[in-house]
Amino acid sequence: MVKDIDWSSLGFGYLKTDYRYVSNFKDGKWDEGTLSTDETVTMHESAGVLQYAQTCFEGMKAYRTADGKVVCFRPDLNAQRMADTCERLEMPVFPIVRFIDAVEKVVKANLDFVPPYGSGASLYLRPYMFGTNAVIGVKPAEEFQFRIFATPVGPYFKGGVKPISLRVPDFDRAAPRGTGHIKAGLNYAMSLHPIVDAHKQGFNENMYLDSKTRTNVEETGGANIIFVTKDNTVVTPKSDTILPSITRRSLMYVAEHYLGLKAEEREVPFTEVKDFKECALCGTAAVLSPVGKVVNKDQEIVFGMDAMGEVTQKLYDTLTGIQMGRIEAPEGWIKVIA
Ligand SMILES: *Cc1c(COP(=O)(O)O)cnc(C)c1O
Repeated sequence: MVKDIDWSSLGFGYLKTDYRYVSNFKDGKWDEGTLSTDETVTMHESAGVLQYAQTCFEGMKAYRTADGKVVCFRPDLNAQRMADTCERLEMPVFPIVRFIDAVEKVVKANLDFVPPYGSGASLYLRPYMFGTNAVIGVKPAEEFQFRIFATPVGPYFKGGVKPISLRVPDFDRAAPRGTGHIKAGLNYAMSLHPIVDAHKQGFNENMYLDSKTRTNVEETGGANIIFVTKDNTVVTPKSDTILPSITRRSLMYVAEHYLGLKAEEREVPFTEVKDFKECALCGTAAVLSPVGKVVNKDQEIVFGMDAMGEVTQKLYDTLTGIQMGRIEAPEGWIKVIA
């Protein structure tokens, strides 16, 4: 029985669901893993995660499709990206096959929380891992916990398709150089002050520039960026210091193979932003959120629309059409769970 929740009023928040997946790494190996009803975590006061922020995460969604199935979108890419992040953070990889199996278990155990088709909501999944044993000298933990919880969510930005505003901050997005392409709380911790500051100044988010030259567009705190040129080419910044968004990679494919548009991943100097026709944030949480305005010090760039731009809308309709089963997906993009 689908839960009695007002799906249309859901924002992007935590709502407790029945089960989460838990597996522990000890003596060099992962245990078999289990589903748990306990949403709390108890650990050592000197756990690696608490002292040196040894933790990382992923974000993905399960959807109810037009024909009543429950599916996940490209979970293998989340599994692989988490493996890459773990290697950079000296954490043990949770094997790809087990990651996908755990996703399946959590979704199946919380099927009643998967929002109905057409509600605009979906079931957000949060895989994450952290060092649990006592660490006091600076070194990696030896014991870790991997968990996945699920929570139903609505849109990330309130206000429907009203375009959001960005400002270029004086801050860099990622903490130390070389960790911008990993999905880890340490980067998000460093983004909290810039985002609170952006909100104070009346902006929804930050558009970060590359920290080395401060001339090229990178991304926002938790989403990549796409632009559309006046002749309808889809452009996204190329950089090894941004997070390789699965949504962005999928959108570039959709632009080229479904919409017949040119799609370019290349450096985007900030000076070029004023010449684009459309701009949008993309990510699992943001999906595709139109940007109406970007401010950099005294310069204000306005894209001049009051909803999604034309190309952004086509990209959005096609991607969500694939995710919700209205449009045939490329091979391997959709994992049917129930
Ligand atoms: C998760 C994330 C994104 C979006 O990636 P998706 O795979 O599309 O969800 C973009 N930027 C950062 C910094 C992120 O952490």
